[in-house]
Amino acid sequence: MAYAITRSCCNDASCVSVCPVNCIHPTPDEPEFGTTDLLYIDPRACIDCGACADACPVDAVFPVDRLRGPDVVFGDLNRDWYRDHPNDHAWGAPSFPRSLPGEVGTLRIAVVGTGPSAGYTAQELLRCTSAELTMIDRLPVTGGLLRHGVAPDHQSTKRIAESFASVFHDPRLRMHLNLEVGTDVSHQELAAHHHAVVYAVGAAADRRLGVPGEDLPGSVPATSFVGWYNADPTVPADTVDLSAERVVVVGNGNVAVDIARILLTDPDRLAATDIADHALAALRRSRVREVVLLARRGPEQAAWSAPEFLGLRRLPGVELVVEDHPQVRAAIEAAAPDSRAVLLADLPLVRHDGDAEPGLGRRIVLRFLSTPVELTEADGRVSGLTVERTALTADGDPIDPAGPIDPTGPAGPTARRDTLRAALVVRSIGHRGVPVPGLPFDERTGTVAQHGGRVVDPATGRPLPGAYVVGWAKRGPSGGIGANRACARETVDALMDDAQARALPVPPAGRTEFEQLVRRRRPDAVGLKELRAVDRAERERGAAQGRPRVKLATVAELLAAGRRR
Ligand code: NAP
Repeated sequence: MAYAITRSCCNDASCVSVCPVNCIHPTPDEPEFGTTDLLYIDPRACIDCGACADACPVDAVFPVDRLRGPDVVFGDLNRDWYRDHPNDHAWGAPSFPRSLPGEVGTLRIAVVGTGPSAGYTAQELLRCTSAELTMIDRLPVTGGLLRHGVAPDHQSTKRIAESFASVFHDPRLRMHLNLEVGTDVSHQELAAHHHAVVYAVGAAADRRLGVPGEDLPGSVPATSFVGWYNADPTVPADTVDLSAERVVVVGNGNVAVDIARILLTDPDRLAATDIADHALAALRRSRVREVVLLARRGPEQAAWSAPEFLGLRRLPGVELVVEDHPQVRAAIEAAAPDSRAVLLADLPLVRHDGDAEPGLGRRIVLRFLSTPVELTEADGRVSGLTVERTALTADGDPIDPAGPIDPTGPAGPTARRDTLRAALVVRSIGHRGVPVPGLPFDERTGTVAQHGGRVVDPATGRPLPGAYVVGWAKRGPSGGIGANRACARETVDALMDDAQARALPVPPAGRTEFEQLVRRRRPDAVGLKELRAVDRAERERGAAQGRPRVKLATVAELLAAGRRR
């Protein structure tokens, strides 16, 4: 019986390189790599050896005959991909890990950030070079979005942290946590102690809707909502108020899907995860019954991935419905077999009155073609969200549905405004990078100005010697965890090319001087021993409750647990 890849696929292709018959596609050298929701196993070519399941860092691969309930669909998804992508499974050209000639000597490289893109970068640098690494994070704990972004009910995805943990314990690596680059130490100081600095700082801010009322209490960016349920120590425990019956989530990407799912999942199920204690308590008291997932475009342009959307369909005790609208109905009826819209084909189409009290049961309403225009206010906080039907042509079709939407653009004859009554509006419209002091920033894309991973001066296009960038800070905020593997490889390749070409500046000071500088600037900076102590403390608290861990949710608690090492 063949194997199949399921929901938690991280797309990092660890499985591809161990398959003895090359039956997992698309491979990193095929054009579709990075564009598909999953990697797929061809059941006709699979020899059932299980090597892919052993190599998978997120436990996503199972024999088809062991898939149960809602996971059965993944057997079909794997098989069906090969219907449209016939493949002879011929091997591509072999590639071998590169290395640097001995005369380059031992490089000292700083990696700023400890999330997935930093983890893959460190892994690649330790594998291909003899470099000594310094890893830095502004928080007293590692993981970035792996710890504070991945939803708590996706524990298998979080398992990839185990492969990064082994990297963090490498004797060539030193860890400096609770240390912020740009505040505690500057880029210039990092550069003065390292041959190269790689920025893996992600995209920490949220994109703005740019409509009135956006900053009212009760209007919460997804970055804060997700940080709240994941015990991000920079997000206060009282950030989210769940006393309203309806929540509107603006956007329909995978983050919006995560938020809708967490809001309506039975808290008893979440209690078995590492969800923040304060969020679990709030969800137990929650009065939320209806979550509206609001999209400004149609179902064909939904931003969620199929595996994540299928997860919404199987939420026990939660009804999933689509707001009825002629253009939405038409799009679903005309949906191509492998489109996003086809996944809505058998969902009930309902009239949705956003001004009325939600019904008694728990439900998620998918509302399309609705552009936010204003958050309304009552008693100093959000009372609702006014939406306008996305601009339509005279025939009632969306104007260029594949093109960018101009929310201030022309409205067609069917345009109308509705106000959805809700005391909590979550703005889940994507992340945005935050400038790092001393590094060129591209305001248009919200990323570090770069070319192929080398930080560049945007005016001249010339590389800033010894400065590199990886992950969302380089590509912008899209793509799951595994997308960072190829991204890290590109950046490390650029760095190795520069090392070989003797283009890296030689730092005047070394590791010892850097550690002295850190101790002077941040006497409370912590390292690997403290990180281990935090990990132990959280796991012990979790074991007592039958949970993987109970996270410490404030900087003070994390530092105190670290000190108790
Ligand atoms: P995203 O996928 O870029 O989705 C953003 C959503 O916001 C889209 O629906 C977009 O609609 C909408 N939007 C943007 N500007 C808007 C505006 N002004 N008004 C109304 N709607 C607006 O972002 P994300 O959900 O934050 O996810 C970021 C990345 O992380 C994605 O690549 C995602 O797949 C990944 N991720 C993956 C997982 C997983 O695999 N489990 C979980 C979480 C995140 P338009 O399409 O109309 O612009």
